[in-house]
Amino acid sequence: MDTSHRAAVGLDFTAVDFETANRSRASVCAVGAVRVRDGVIVDEFRSLVSPPPGFDEFEAGNVRVHGLTEADVVDAPGWDVVYPELMRFIDGDVFVGHNARFDVSVLLNATGAYDLPWPEIDTLCTLQLARSALRVPSYSLPWVASHLGLGDFDHHDPLADARMTALVLLTLARLHEATAVAELASMLSVAMMPTFVDELDSIASELDSSPDPLIATGFVAQAVCFTGALRLMIRDEAHRLVVEHGGLAQAGVNRKTTVLVTGDFDSRTFRPGANFSAKLRKAFDLVDAGQALEIITEEDFVARLSLSEEALRSRIAQTGVSRRKLPEWVMVQSGAGPSGDYWAWFNAALAHPKGRAAGGEPCIWCDAPVASNIHWVHRDRHVCSVHCNERYKRAAARAWDRAGIRRPAEPAPWER
Ligand SMILES: [Zn+2]
Repeated sequence: MDTSHRAAVGLDFTAVDFETANRSRASVCAVGAVRVRDGVIVDEFRSLVSPPPGFDEFEAGNVRVHGLTEADVVDAPGWDVVYPELMRFIDGDVFVGHNARFDVSVLLNATGAYDLPWPEIDTLCTLQLARSALRVPSYSLPWVASHLGLGDFDHHDPLADARMTALVLLTLARLHEATAVAELASMLSVAMMPTFVDELDSIASELDSSPDPLIATGFVAQAVCFTGALRLMIRDEAHRLVVEHGGLAQAGVNRKTTVLVTGDFDSRTFRPGANFSAKLRKAFDLVDAGQALEIITEEDFVARLSLSEEALRSRIAQTGVSRRKLPEWVMVQSGAGPSGDYWAWFNAALAHPKGRAAGGEPCIWCDAPVASNIHWVHRDRHVCSVHCNERYKRAAARAWDRAGIRRPAEPAPWER
């Protein structure tokens, strides 16, 4: 486990961007990253990725965004190979993403699909920084880049996006005369989020009310209006989802509107200078007049709804509080202690006594029902998500540590 956090001093960080093959956050198919030292991009990392088995189907919506297909990744290394390389590149830096919730979620879910140890790093979101610092019609990367005068770029090429994300942070730092990443985050009241928080009670209690803080944002206290044709759903369904996620669905744009979803554009074509309808131009005028109205694409809308399987399961789990105790049988089953190969015993002691889940069994960590189509790593443990899987494994390790069962150190994949 990597515990060597780099001190957040100076303008040092790594900006990362992922693309996925389908709506699952585990389906990583490409990654780009740039390393920044003292405010200057000094190195870059890029790789296509063959998505984890079971998550490798390319969906049309994703192909439309990034243009990658199965043929592009057929010879690419798997995430189990790229992950250690990326972690060595990040080397304990603050992980910066534009909409970092998405990128961190991909990092954790893809890693969970291989049951590899999670990284422990701090993350920071330039979308949140931009929302705090700027007033623009859209906070997607092309609009923020254009507003800051950073020029054109090949949006949804992961390396181009990572590079632009880094430039956005550096430009905001210059505008605010911040000389360190932590200083800029603090000035703009944006929190740096750790990738794993179970041991931190102050943050964990916050998490209990929002079990998947890395994904779900929703539309609480937002007035949401739609314009143009939606590709994925009918207007009624969209309105229902807004209400379900805490928002107010509106028929027309007015002075109360805080979010306008535009169905006629995707994240490639919705950029400064495109041809906009009268309804959209009215929205731009309201922003110019000072209204806090954000225009987003249908993709952004779906991302904020958290319609991924993982997020839907988390929503179901919201009523349950995060468990801090292991089920009794885990300690009973592990009572014999390790004989021979410690890690083989560790995994055997974690296996659910009733065997493989058929679907619907309660998660052994949070009690949410385990979906029937969930990846085998989690199904064998009757765990509803990679987040619960990780919390459960760590709780078991802590319990065995307390019981005096010594385990050999397991080096993280990037330390081997
Ligand atoms: Zn769970």
